[in-house]
Order: sequence, then structure tokens, then C-alpha cells
Amino acid sequence: MSQAKFDIPFQSAVSPEVLDADTRIHFRCYKGISCFNACCKQADVTLAPYDVIRLKRRLGMSSTDFLAKYTVPFQMDQDGTPGIKLRTDDTGTCLQLNGDEGCGVYEDRPTVCRYYPVALLALREKGSAEAREQFSLVKEPHCKGHLEAREIRIGDYRTEQGVEEYDELNREWYQLILKKKSAGPTVGRPPETSLQLFFMASYDMDRFRRFVLSDNFRSTYQLTDDFYLELERSDEELLRFSYRFLRQVLFGEHSVQEAADAWEKRVAERKEVWDARREFELKRRAAAEDEKYRHQPDAESTPDQNPGDRPCCD
Ligand code: SF4
Ligand code: SF4
Repeated sequence: MSQAKFDIPFQSAVSPEVLDADTRIHFRCYKGISCFNACCKQADVTLAPYDVIRLKRRLGMSSTDFLAKYTVPFQMDQDGTPGIKLRTDDTGTCLQLNGDEGCGVYEDRPTVCRYYPVALLALREKGSAEAREQFSLVKEPHCKGHLEAREIRIGDYRTEQGVEEYDELNREWYQLILKKKSAGPTVGRPPETSLQLFFMASYDMDRFRRFVLSDNFRSTYQLTDDFYLELERSDEELLRFSYRFLRQVLFGEHSVQEAADAWEKRVAERKEVWDARREFELKRRAAAEDEKYRHQPDAESTPDQNPGDRPCCD
């Protein structure tokens, strides 16, 4: 029998028992239950890429603004892989909670909130980076939904909570993180630019779109005009493309064709940047030298000719 390793990426108070889609659980949550909103008042919600798309659209803001206003960053592993959580107030209450009405973004609530009290487990066979999805149950004392009589298959609970669409769009990202983990810790911290790229391509779709539609990107990667149009129009297509792009950049899995002279062009562009930087630095140093000599006392001048140099004035 093959050994397996379990990762529990998005919930922590989980029972160790691994469940599958056919497992039946007792659970029901509804407005009016005695603990209504208790979970949202101690929210610890990690967001996946598609969660951000749904929430920024719901709130009518750009992904960049949404990230700044409604999320907090954390490190997902010792390499500093960036993760984000929903921001709460000082008491731990989710900022999306709309008083006694419940979740203010219910139709677009994140994956973790949909799954609760089920936790999605990404399970990988030893020697494989591919994940299999299984589940576990989160049982927290404040949650009274477990005492309800209703029995439901986990598979049916997923359908009821609208999780499948989210999983479909986040699955490749989960795989990507598992693959990164299975590669082991990086020797030394990964370059800041690759962490920034991971952050942008995972969460900040509007910024990533500008990056992909830039002249620089277009001259480097050979994609058709129709495909670029699709990336311009659709967040979902852009997200799928971001996974391809991250696999290429992080793991060298080439699926985005680069222009034949892309490397030479990049070196030429870099050279322009390096030349400009060197020129700027030379000018800066020359200006600093000029400034230094301008403020030195002139041996020929008298104190009266340079009143600013006098130790005191009248
Ligand atoms: S997003 Fe909604 S369901 Fe999730 S913690 Fe916040 S208020 Fe609760
Ligand atoms: S039953 Fe659980 S999930 Fe539902 S409101 Fe109560 S604490 Fe939250």
C-alpha cells in the first residue's frame, strides 16, 4: 500500500479522520440557529485565487484595491510563499459580516466559508506532486450545526454550497502549491521578484492583466490576438493562464511559446536599463560632488561676502 502525506492547507481545527465524498455528516446551518454568525466573529479565512475574483467583482473594486482594503498577508511556507487571509476587525470579526443579517457577500463567499465545517484536504501520494481531494470535519465548540438532525453526503454538501465551481478554478493552484512543497525548501530564500510574481499571478488579476497585455509581454510570448482578447475580457481565462505561466516560470514547464529572439531582446532591454541606471548614477554622483564643493568656504571670500557661513548673525 502506498504511503500518503496529508496537507491541510485551509483549516486547522480538523479531526484527523480522512473522509471522502460518500461520507455522511450530520450538519445544518440556517439563519435563526443559536450560534448564527459565531463562526464569522472568529474568522480565519485563507483565500484562494478564485475567491479574490468573486469578491472584488462583488464589491465593485479592482483586485489591487480589494487586496489592500480587505486582506492581510501571511507566509504559507518557510520559503515565504505569499498567502492572504480575509481581514477582520480587532475582535476577529470578518469585515464582510453584515450585522445580524449574516454574510454580506453570501453569494460570493470564499471557498473556506462554503466548505465549513468540512475541510478540503489536498492529499498526495508519496513521490507524486498530484493531489487527490479528500475531506475532514471541523468541529468547533461554538458551532451547533453538528447537533442538527439532517444527514448529508459530503459530495451533496459540496453541491449545495456551490463549491464545485470554486474547486474547478482553484484546483490547479492547489496542485501548484503542492508541487512547490514536494520540491522541498529552497536553498536560500527565493528571489523577491519570483515571490512578487507569484502574488500578482495568484491574487492580483487586474495587475496581472496589465502585465500580460503590455507590449513587453506580447513581444516575448507568442500568443494569438484572439487569445489576448480573451485574457482581456475574462478573469477566469486570465486565471487559467496565470497557472500555466506560473508553472513555466517556477518549474520550467514550458507551455507558453516564447519568441525565438526573446532572450536576446530581454538582454538588449536589460542593457538599456543597465545603461540608463549607470548614466543616472554617474549624474547623481557628479551632482553630489558639485553640491559638496558649492558649500565649501571659498578661501578668497571674506565672512561678509558669505554671510551664511558666519557662525552667528546680528
Ligand atoms: S466572508 Fe461571509 S461567511 Fe465568510 S467569514 Fe466573512 S462574513 Fe462569514
Ligand atoms: S452553525 Fe456553525 S457555520 Fe452555521 S452559523 Fe453556527 S457556527 Fe456558523
